[in-house]
Amino acid sequence: MEKKNQTSEVKKLTEKLLIDRKSGCLKVSKKQMEKADRFCDDYKKFISTAKTEREVACYVIEAAEKAGYVPFEAGKQYQPGDRVYYNNRGKAVILAVIGEEGCRNGVRIAASHIDSPRLDLKPHPLYEKDGLALFKTHYYGGIKKYQWTTIPLSLHGRVVLKDGTHVDLRVGEEPGDPQFTVTDLLIHLADDQMKKSMFKAVEGENLNILAGSRPVRAEEGENLFKLNLMKILNEKYGMTEEDFVSADLELVPAFGASDIGFDRSMIGAYGHDDRVCAYPALMAALHAKTPKNTVLTVLADKEEIGSDGNTGLNSQFMRYFIADLAQAEGLETRHVLSRSKCLSADVTAAYDPTYADVYEAANSCFINGGVGMAKYTGARGKSGSSEATAEFVSEIRRLFESNDVLWQIGELGKVDAGGGGTVAMYIANLNVDVVDIGVPVLSMHSPFEVVSKLDIYMTYEGIKAFFEAD
Ligand code: MN
Ligand code: MN
Repeated sequence: MEKKNQTSEVKKLTEKLLIDRKSGCLKVSKKQMEKADRFCDDYKKFISTAKTEREVACYVIEAAEKAGYVPFEAGKQYQPGDRVYYNNRGKAVILAVIGEEGCRNGVRIAASHIDSPRLDLKPHPLYEKDGLALFKTHYYGGIKKYQWTTIPLSLHGRVVLKDGTHVDLRVGEEPGDPQFTVTDLLIHLADDQMKKSMFKAVEGENLNILAGSRPVRAEEGENLFKLNLMKILNEKYGMTEEDFVSADLELVPAFGASDIGFDRSMIGAYGHDDRVCAYPALMAALHAKTPKNTVLTVLADKEEIGSDGNTGLNSQFMRYFIADLAQAEGLETRHVLSRSKCLSADVTAAYDPTYADVYEAANSCFINGGVGMAKYTGARGKSGSSEATAEFVSEIRRLFESNDVLWQIGELGKVDAGGGGTVAMYIANLNVDVVDIGVPVLSMHSPFEVVSKLDIYMTYEGIKAFFEAD
């Protein structure tokens, strides 16, 4: 009898005092799980089609217009419930719903990025060598270069021609389209390559795109392989070789999303980082009713290369937008910013048991653990991070709890194993309260990243609750 009492006392204390570490799948209802699966059906369509920041921006604007959003006009007076969007060069977008109290208590921001690692064409990409036509690339963002060889790639982007008109390319996505690839050395001749470090085994200058192998039919002449390729591009797009210099042309994995696992609990796709947070933020904006405080969904470019540039969040474009909102209500921008709150919605690393030694399991985020929060990011001694205050983390934690949002908190990996950052610090530098939240990812920055359906849905629920909060 004594023993039985002790056992139940331990159980009571455990429930009261310790964190429940069982799988998130066992903490949510069956109904929530079904909602998550349904939410992700549309996400899979989105992630399979919108593969560059331009394509995501287009998708977002089209969806927003359907949901009643109109282009923002600086200087105009807006009413509670009005829905506006700001298109920054077709590569970044801000959606806003004007709140009952406008922005006098600050705005509520969900910020994600819509660029992903990929291979960009160089300004003079086209060359021929030993019977092949190839493109030189310059990789964008942090990649393990060997992962980008021997997979099917598609070519996306915009070419602005000499006369100022533009053509948009999207080759390799439709059935029957040609695709592209980067070759790798056959194992039979790879003795030297296999002894190199992974950094050196495939070098940046070897990430060349196979683009053709037939010359123009001619008895003599030079550059016949290049010429044949330019002939095709000219007929199709009106391009000459020089037009490559004013192009945003990007190679991305040519495959779409698929369910992963017999239980279909996960999704594999290119570009989850960070469209897997951008999509929930977009959905929260589309579904938003008139909020108390004005809410902003900020979808930025350039995060993968440090957020610099006029479409990245280290630029002033979001601040200018908020300044316009403030001015229309007769408020000072600095007062609005200082009272604002932000969820920096970016992915985090999911604990991978196969590479357990770089994680600190007790402080990691797990697949199916729900939306992952990070009090700070950065590297080494929290360098390159804005750390959220205890007060703000507590506020968001309470918000999630009271809205049945499954959440977890963790760090990227072991303290000295490496590190990474998000847009959080650029927004925090405007004197906004910011905390990182987002979906944990396996194989981050690879051509085929994996995430959990439940975690995607909980990120949506989290952002939605944040927008609806007082
Ligand atoms: Mn990211
Ligand atoms: Mn990233």
